[in-house]
Amino acid sequence: MSTRVIDGKRLADNLIREVSEQVQHLLDADLPAPGLAVVLVGEDPASAVYVRNKIKRAREAGMRSIEKRLSEDCTQETLEAIIEELNQREDVHGILVQLPLPKHLSAERVIRLIAPQKDVDGFHPHNVGLLATGQASLIPCTPLGCLEILQRELGDLSGKHAVIVGRSNIVGKPMANLLLQANCTITVVHSKTHQANLLARQADILVAAVGQPELIDESWVKPGAVVIDVGINAVEQAGKRKLVGDVNFSKVAPFAKAITPVPGGVGPMTIACLMKNTLVAAQYARDQANGLHHTLS
Ligand code: NDP
Repeated sequence: MSTRVIDGKRLADNLIREVSEQVQHLLDADLPAPGLAVVLVGEDPASAVYVRNKIKRAREAGMRSIEKRLSEDCTQETLEAIIEELNQREDVHGILVQLPLPKHLSAERVIRLIAPQKDVDGFHPHNVGLLATGQASLIPCTPLGCLEILQRELGDLSGKHAVIVGRSNIVGKPMANLLLQANCTITVVHSKTHQANLLARQADILVAAVGQPELIDESWVKPGAVVIDVGINAVEQAGKRKLVGDVNFSKVAPFAKAITPVPGGVGPMTIACLMKNTLVAAQYARDQANGLHHTLS
């Protein structure tokens, strides 16, 4: 079987280009560029890299970026005051707080404080509820990126059986809701599922969001399935640090119709979808200012 290795970087570049064209339409109409505020607490090196990439991509898309850096020992009150300020600012359309936060801070409280119409991560309960009830909303970037990949790869997803490995609030659950809306039949498996690999083997679409390096081998995959690997795991191999996914790429790729690599698959699309969400939030703010009332789309 010839397997397609999905080029997430190229798909992300295409999506960023589409977003930047829409940004240009806003600028041509004398409207402000979409503004993305990114809040980083502490010095975690991986988080710093993610934030740097997000800001770089925002600039490539023609957006304004606002970076707020807070020290590791900042208080909940200080962080919340920053969010309140960003909620009020008219030049800020999207707010992202880089997770995880240091242990003494409550991510849940911070997420609830972000104005839902600026919640470009799609984690606020308001947006979670809209997604779960099939209404337009700001959708978590990673599952949105996976959906974009699948639709660009397979076209109409109606009637496909999708198995999602993992049920987290940021990936597994929103992925299930999105694919359900795209008319897939959904199975979600998790750590308490018996013989999860046998269920996964029935899937036309397999999405792995487990956080276990290379857990998914060929025993989980139906020949001809499309495999989306969300996992990002840093491991030591032969004395070197490298990134691997939740899928054992070399064992699974020979059986898959198409598969995302790690790195270079879902990761770049996640960031591109953040730009898409920031554009949607800016368009929403424009329509609100013009007295047009609609839900986010
Ligand atoms: P979580 O740890 O929050 O969730 C993992 C899920 O996998 C849980 O639902 C857990 O089940 C389930 N699970 C664990 N072990 C097994 C098993 N042996 N069999 C079946 N299910 C299992 O992880 P996230 O959803 O946050 O992230 C998943 C992966 O995706 C990570 O590698 C993360 O780094 C990566 N990630 C990548 C992003 C990107 O941009 N590409 C963005 C976000 C995450 P249970 O609920 O029962 O514990």
